[in-house]
Amino acid sequence: MNKRCECGDTKSLALRTVIFARKVSITRVPVYCCSQCGSHEVFSGVKGDISRLIRELGAKPAPRTIPFDQVHEWAGILTAAASEGDSLHKTAVERAAEERTNELLDLWLIASSVGDENWKAELQSRLAQLNAAYIS
Ligand SMILES: [Zn+2]
Repeated sequence: MNKRCECGDTKSLALRTVIFARKVSITRVPVYCCSQCGSHEVFSGVKGDISRLIRELGAKPAPRTIPFDQVHEWAGILTAAASEGDSLHKTAVERAAEERTNELLDLWLIASSVGDENWKAELQSRLAQLNAAYIS
């Protein structure tokens, strides 16, 4: 997936490791990068959640690694789509997003039928991550 860069070249979407406060590694963060001018931009679908995560870590975090694909649905979907090939294609991403949404809805039906309110709330927040985001 590509996006036009201010320099006139194109930025392409890749999963990068982001190091925060030189101690915390957040792996598989979807970022658009331009190979021409080096500018980069976090994928819009995860922007709000990654800033929240960094705020929660605080100014002096303990050293650790956070696999972002397990925290955020979009990072998980892009990781699944990327495993099918070297670069991220919009069709693979859309298919992975659709499959994951269906999977979450199936689980939600099960959670609902067994009356597990905590599980339902967890699934709803994961579905909301997908709904709030858009591919751009
Ligand atoms: Zn550029």
